[in-house]
Amino acid sequence: MKGFTTRAIHIGEDPSQMQYGDVISPIHLSTTFAKERIEDVEKGYVYSRTSNPTRDRLEKKLASLEGGKYALAFSSGLAAESTILLSLLHKGDEVIAFDDLYGGTKRLFNEVMAKYGINFKYIDMTQADNVNNEITERTRMIWIETPTNPLLKLADIRCISEIAGHDIIVVVDNTFATPYFQRPLELGADIVVHSVTKYLGGHSDVVGGAVIVNDNDLHEKLRFHQNAIGAILSPFDSWLVMRGLKTLSLRMERHEYNAKNIAKYLEEHPNVQRVYYPGLKSHPQYELAKTQMSGFGGMLSFEIKGGLEKAKKFVESLELFALAESLGGVESLIEIPAVMTHASLSPNELNKIGISNSLIRVSVGIEDLDDLINDIETAFSV
Ligand SMILES: *Cc1c(COP(=O)(O)O)cnc(C)c1O
Repeated sequence: MKGFTTRAIHIGEDPSQMQYGDVISPIHLSTTFAKERIEDVEKGYVYSRTSNPTRDRLEKKLASLEGGKYALAFSSGLAAESTILLSLLHKGDEVIAFDDLYGGTKRLFNEVMAKYGINFKYIDMTQADNVNNEITERTRMIWIETPTNPLLKLADIRCISEIAGHDIIVVVDNTFATPYFQRPLELGADIVVHSVTKYLGGHSDVVGGAVIVNDNDLHEKLRFHQNAIGAILSPFDSWLVMRGLKTLSLRMERHEYNAKNIAKYLEEHPNVQRVYYPGLKSHPQYELAKTQMSGFGGMLSFEIKGGLEKAKKFVESLELFALAESLGGVESLIEIPAVMTHASLSPNELNKIGISNSLIRVSVGIEDLDDLINDIETAFSV
């Protein structure tokens, strides 16, 4: 098999299959496809919700990068998640989930799926044994996010997949690590889900999602529901994600280089209480990070001394780090989870997970490291 970057560039882009030898796949906007004969109406492409040549090529590329047989592209990460849940769960089923999940995922679970009789149990998955204790005969799915948002906690995918065995479906949200640094299917997970909006798209210009699997039956069910529910990725957005994926490895190397150096810088800084980054030796799961991931990613969080007031002043004083939600683009972003991305959680929930008012989350971009550090240094001094 060819290397990751070669596949990211070449899979789904085959000039010999293009009408004019295009080096770049065209964007197929057609919603419907004409046939010569009645016998052929069900053959090949029929209608673009069901399948579309541009989306197909993206799906091939995504499957290859995650080390899976099949990928499906959706109109957002949450559309991908909804389709997984609606495809595979029934009334009365139980899902065990990491308590430090992306806020929108929790909202989907608690305020949408719970209405249909699906039960969600949240636990601290940093200890794989905790999963063992929660499994009942109703448990159908385990939902992992690793590293988590915003505290960069890890769950041991290999160990939890072993505990789950054959009957419980293990889903891993791989948005933070990306397939460049972590491939859950190779560690025993059944389903990988992505917010393509983040690193895979990589340029903060497309909202999308993806699901990757190896199992034929799972794929059949998910593909049926992708078409039946209809939350598909558009041809243009599919093309943007294909374009983004070609530089994923280069971007991730640089995101990581910048994040690692900023994490080390912050750890030494007198205004900083604590830094959360899986690539620091001080991270409680540093050893797991080294075995499960081939790199530590571009996300980090830290506690600033001086509480919410100081945190607000700091993030508003930065010049290069945009004060914004979302993550994974080439530009650096910064936010305060307690009042922004995680504001929908109650003080009690925030407290339980460990998200304080002085926690700052950083999506470290690929700008020049010195410029980023100078910007931070200046903001600390105002
Ligand atoms: C953003 C995000 C999602 C949701 O994806 P959307 O594309 O915004 O719908 C899910 N999981 C994680 C970890 C995310 O960061």
